[in-house]
Amino acid sequence: MSGTQVELINPIIRRIVAEVETTPESFWARQARRLHWFRTWDTVFEWNYPERYRWFIGGETNLSYNALDRHVERGWGGHTALVYANERGERRLFTYAQLHREVERLAAALRGLGVQKGDRITIYMPVCPEAITLMLAAVRVGAIHIVVFAGFGARALADRIEASGSRFLFAADVTYRKGSTIPLKGIVDQALEQAGHSVERVVLLRRGDEPVPMTAGRDLTWEEFVALADGQSGAVVPLEANEPAFIMATSGTTARPKLTVHTHGGYAVWIMSTGDWLFRLRPSDVWWATSDIGWIVGHSYIVYAPLMVGCTSIAYEGAIDHPGPETFWQLVEEFNITGIFTAPTAVRLLMRYGTEPAHRFDLSSLRRIVCAGEPLNPPAWHWLQKEVFRDRIPVIDHWWQTETGGPVIGNPYGLCMVPIKPGSATLPMPGVHVDVVTLEGDSCGPNEKGILVLTGPFPGLTSTLWGEHDRYLRDYWERIPGRRLYFTGDAAHVDEDGYIWFAGRADEVVNVAGHRIGTVEVETALLTHPAVAEAGVTGRPDEVKGEVLSAFVVLRPGHEPSEALKQELVQTVRRELGPVAVVGELTFVSMLPKTRSGKIMRRVLKAVILDKDPGDITTIEEEGSVDEARAAWEQLRAERQDE
Ligand code: AMP
Repeated sequence: MSGTQVELINPIIRRIVAEVETTPESFWARQARRLHWFRTWDTVFEWNYPERYRWFIGGETNLSYNALDRHVERGWGGHTALVYANERGERRLFTYAQLHREVERLAAALRGLGVQKGDRITIYMPVCPEAITLMLAAVRVGAIHIVVFAGFGARALADRIEASGSRFLFAADVTYRKGSTIPLKGIVDQALEQAGHSVERVVLLRRGDEPVPMTAGRDLTWEEFVALADGQSGAVVPLEANEPAFIMATSGTTARPKLTVHTHGGYAVWIMSTGDWLFRLRPSDVWWATSDIGWIVGHSYIVYAPLMVGCTSIAYEGAIDHPGPETFWQLVEEFNITGIFTAPTAVRLLMRYGTEPAHRFDLSSLRRIVCAGEPLNPPAWHWLQKEVFRDRIPVIDHWWQTETGGPVIGNPYGLCMVPIKPGSATLPMPGVHVDVVTLEGDSCGPNEKGILVLTGPFPGLTSTLWGEHDRYLRDYWERIPGRRLYFTGDAAHVDEDGYIWFAGRADEVVNVAGHRIGTVEVETALLTHPAVAEAGVTGRPDEVKGEVLSAFVVLRPGHEPSEALKQELVQTVRRELGPVAVVGELTFVSMLPKTRSGKIMRRVLKAVILDKDPGDITTIEEEGSVDEARAAWEQLRAERQDE
């Protein structure tokens, strides 16, 4: 299925797809030559299952060199590399030359601290220049960073420190969000008590005014750390292409985090290539990925790819609707932003405020918005594409995972855009081959829902899980009996044009009277109603129907819960999806349980309706959302019993 439909669409894509199908090695070698190599590879690709597959074997490169030195050497040092902005109005700008100098200094300081090639360092810091320069300095000396989102609590931090066996921990004392200053050092100390004894030194970046306890012999201030650079070299270490650059945990809709591993070679080639094919990233771009460095999007598209391309990357710390609903749009005007990468949850948030804040600003610099993380529901897409931008620029959905390092399915906007079908993630990227199969391994026909699988690796795909290679093989390559396919875990179908449509995680598909309905489809149907801001749907076992759809709905400002509205919403789903899509129960809440990266946690909703323990919720955004869902659910049950 891979590229065949793409071939029909455009001669440029046809040529690329033909090349990657017939001569993959020369194709990937050509992509790799976009980067600097200290030594050229001997072999492009090798995989002796069950060992890890490897790309660009024997080649030597370094992410930090490709992001910084290369540009300075070609005279691009005066161009703005990084713009840091926060919700308190602070701004800091760095040219490529300045960023390079900062990173060299931190690399030297890491050496002074005793960091060696292969050491893991945990970074528990919000989006800020120090964290970004530290990431670049770590990979520069061959250390492996694991950034932990600075909104996580002690348990989640301890788990990641322990699983990665980090010797060093870098933290900030506070993070800023929605006008509050959130202390972090207490969480650090608590996590270190829980995490075993691997961490030897803690470096603390002081930003707040409150004193923080420091443990003598273990804790250093940032200034003490930077002073260790004296007499040390900040030089880059050439690294074999398959050396890990960083570890990144998946975002946690599953209970136990999986630690993916991304490399200096394949990962770099993949995010450069997809940055071109999908986002059309160019050195003249002012690019804003609204994510956080605690997620893969932050790694790939706040830090590494924009810098490798040589453009200006905006790193924003805070909430996109703080200090006001106009903040997001105001930043576009302030920095003349040309491209945005954001998440559907952010679009739905902006949608709650309507188009008025957007239309107050000059958005003419903007040329595209790309979205990933969850399906971009057609009502949200329509709002942004039609109501905000009046079709002036494309709003593009695309699909990927922490495991894939960069986009896998999307609109090849950078090569030549294909028509957008709202609600579809579009087509596989060149070099990606997909299929949709049943759990038994049979391929599904067009428009038939099954599980999306990838038929082989591509350079960005993690080739292991840190310290758990067996789990990696079991969870991804051995899930479909009799066939060696990468199991994405997502339910999807492919339409007659080859477009891919996601329906939610495979284990979230609801079986109502023999019909398989994706939870996302029901949520999208609910979002078509003007009163609905967000919806989370799950299935409840039912003796007669198999399963019944249960919906949790957040209303837009100005709408009140009522029995009449409930009935209207149930009818809306029925009208949109047909008579099988019967919502058995619907309740109103003020917020949904979500991961810190903004994904709806449907497994938590399921636990609520089944009256079970929700399991590990260390990655949840608001713990109160679980209690609220539970209270709403109990009230609904009580009302039912009264009837
Ligand atoms: P993460 O663990 O944060 O990398 O989440 C990856 C998961 O997010 C995927 O397996 C999908 O379930 C979901 N996802 C990401 N992007 C999209 C998209 N554009 N459409 C549908 N689901 C998406």
